[in-house]
Amino acid sequence: MAPEPPLSEDTSADVVIVGGGYLGLWTAWQLLQLEPELDVLLLETAMCGHGPSGRNGGFCETLWPGAQILRERAGDAAALAVCRASESAVRGIGAWCETNEVDAWFREAPMLRVATTESQVGSWEGIVVAAADLGAADEVVAVSAAEVRTRCASPLFLGGALYRLNATVHPARLALGLRAKLLERGARIHERTEVTRFERDGSVETRFGRVRAGSAVLAVNSAAAGFRGYRLSLAVASSHIVLTEPVPEVLDEIGWTGGEAIVDSRTLVHYMRTTRDGRIVFGWGGGAMGIGGRLADRLELDPKVIERTQEALVRFFPQLEGRQITHAWGGPIDVSPTHLPIFGSRGRIHHGFGFTGNGVGPSYLGGEILARLALDRRDERTGLAIVEPSRKLFPPEPFRYAGGSLIRRALLAKDAAEDAGREPGVATRFVASLPRRLGLRLPR
Ligand SMILES: Cc1cc2nc3c(=O)[nH]c(=O)nc-3n(C[C@H](O)[C@H](O)[C@H](O)COP(=O)(O)OP(=O)(O)OC[C@H]3O[C@@H](n4cnc5c(N)ncnc54)[C@H](O)[C@@H]3O)c2cc1C
Repeated sequence: MAPEPPLSEDTSADVVIVGGGYLGLWTAWQLLQLEPELDVLLLETAMCGHGPSGRNGGFCETLWPGAQILRERAGDAAALAVCRASESAVRGIGAWCETNEVDAWFREAPMLRVATTESQVGSWEGIVVAAADLGAADEVVAVSAAEVRTRCASPLFLGGALYRLNATVHPARLALGLRAKLLERGARIHERTEVTRFERDGSVETRFGRVRAGSAVLAVNSAAAGFRGYRLSLAVASSHIVLTEPVPEVLDEIGWTGGEAIVDSRTLVHYMRTTRDGRIVFGWGGGAMGIGGRLADRLELDPKVIERTQEALVRFFPQLEGRQITHAWGGPIDVSPTHLPIFGSRGRIHHGFGFTGNGVGPSYLGGEILARLALDRRDERTGLAIVEPSRKLFPPEPFRYAGGSLIRRALLAKDAAEDAGREPGVATRFVASLPRRLGLRLPR
């Protein structure tokens, strides 16, 4: 597939979107749904889908995992509204694939959050209670170890919680499918075009020319931390994935044939799912922290993190000892201080970031929100509690990187101690608890 040509001269558009990941692509799609004749221009520094949107784990989740935080920050009615809107997003992606005949391997099946150490057992109680208190007890239910193992018989699984609505997708098929449909609908896309500056009047600058627009949408994920006005709004972590060769006989043996996405209950999570061609995608959120908005190589691919991810895969599924890993990769995670995505406007610039490892489903909702903000239309989507939430900021660099790295090390030590059945030390426990004490959340 050939990239679209870079921008070659000054131009104008009704709306300019910066970033060709799911958020930018869904925003473009929603804009054309609302106003089919709109002149939409999307600028992407590499190729659409090159970022995490083209290479994530493919969990297409709701925002129910964030229900407790939403309740604390916005109250019950607002929390429920966000969770329900995020359910529509998951269904919306499935419907979009069907209507547009894009085969993104969308498969609806529940998500399991499991315990793999005694210390994790019951850690889901707060979220189960939150769902029940919000009148949605069916959305998240506790399940016994035996029930978990009928869905997937890993020897590590000690019980868990089941999120009713979830799906999995093939990430790159979805991103590239969206790009193709947008081009068909007449959106203008320039790839290999980096935006270097935003103006509050909605115009943006690149090395090749300037775009004057009625509104601009900033949809650049963790790179937002590199733009003035957004530097303290997010921190950058990283996540890595290994992909097995097809192992359908192993999936049959462990009974993992229902398409469930599975995540464990530690802070630096392990996450795993099956694919249509019988492989296991296995990820770990334990990679290094990034500095500001800069993309360091080891956020993209860290051989040491890949090695540890592969070791964990075999601990979860001993049958995979000696089986081939055909692909491995990583990427940056845009961590919001509250763990929830943030949308809003500064003048005529409209932004979205902070998915904190749960952006596949919520970016569809983000596209609905940003399209409305860009057109200055207000409705129940722009009234959701993830739009212009009260501000919470990270400390500036170098404290953010140093503090984040210290906390990450403490979390790794805590998880290692608990995996070995030991109590973590007092200092480790204290440092690992700092984000919670400061009211900040790390991935999951
Ligand atoms: C390894 C990994 C696994 C993950 N697994 C899951 C999962 O299973 N489920 C889930 O929900 N989420 C997952 N995520 C997170 C998810 O991928 C993201 O939340 C989601 O893709 C965010 O979409 P986006 O459009 O905001 O960002 P991106 O996909 O990063 O898109 C932003 C785009 O902006 C471009 N860009 C950046 N700066 C500029 C600039 N100055 N000018 C022009 N363009 C620019 C980038 O090249 C990029 O293409 C995972 C992430 C990683 C790294």
